[in-house]
Amino acid sequence: MELLQQKILNEGTVLSDHVLKVDAFLNHQIDPQLMVEVGKEFARRFENDHITKVLTLESSGIAPSMMAALDLGVPVIFARKRKSLTLVNDLLTASVYSFTKKETNEISVSQKFLEPTDNVLIIDDFLANGQAALGLASIVELAGAKTAGIGIVIEKSFQNGGKLLRDNGFKVESLARIQSLEGGKVTFLEEVGVGR
Ligand code: 5GP
Repeated sequence: MELLQQKILNEGTVLSDHVLKVDAFLNHQIDPQLMVEVGKEFARRFENDHITKVLTLESSGIAPSMMAALDLGVPVIFARKRKSLTLVNDLLTASVYSFTKKETNEISVSQKFLEPTDNVLIIDDFLANGQAALGLASIVELAGAKTAGIGIVIEKSFQNGGKLLRDNGFKVESLARIQSLEGGKVTFLEEVGVGR
C-alpha cells in the first residue's frame, strides 16, 4: 500500500535493526485519514471471506480494526491486556509474549462476544514473531469460532511471524512488508500484483 509505505518512510523512525517506531501516525498520534485507507484496503482484501467480527489487541490494533470493521459492516472486539473489574466472568484467555515489552501478558476476551458461528478477521498493527496473532487465534479457537484471516498493518518479513502463521494455514495479508531495517534504513519487500 503506497500511502502507508510513504508514511513509514517519511515519519517512521528505525530504533534498531529489529524495531520501527511509528508513533507519529499509528502507535501514539493517529492519522485518521490513513486509517480510513488502511481499513478500506483490509476490507478489500477480505471481502470474500464472509467476516462476521474483527478481533484485535488493545491499544494500537483498535484504530485500523475500527476502520476495517466499518467497511466490512461488522463489530470490533479488542482483547484486553489487563484484568478489568468489569471483565471477570466467562473469559477466553491466552498468554502472549510481547516482542516490544519482553514480558508475557494474559490477554482476554469475554466469551459472550464470540460465537461458534463467527468467522473472525484478526487485525494487528505489527507482525514480528507472530505471538500476538497466534494468541488471538487461540482465543477464536476457544470460542469454537473460525479465524478467516489475519490482517497486519506492518509486517517485518525478516522476523519469523509471517512464515509461522502462513505455515499454520492462515491467510495473512500485510499492507506493508519490510524486508530490512538494517543501517537505520527501511527497505520494503517488493511484491508484484498486490494492490499498494
Ligand atoms: P509479535 O507478537 O508478532 O512478535 O509482535 C507483534 C506485537 O508487538 C504487535 O502487537 C506490536 O504491538 C509489537 N511490535 C512488534 N514489533 C514492533 C515494532 O517494530 N514496532 C512497534 N511499534 N511495535 C512492534
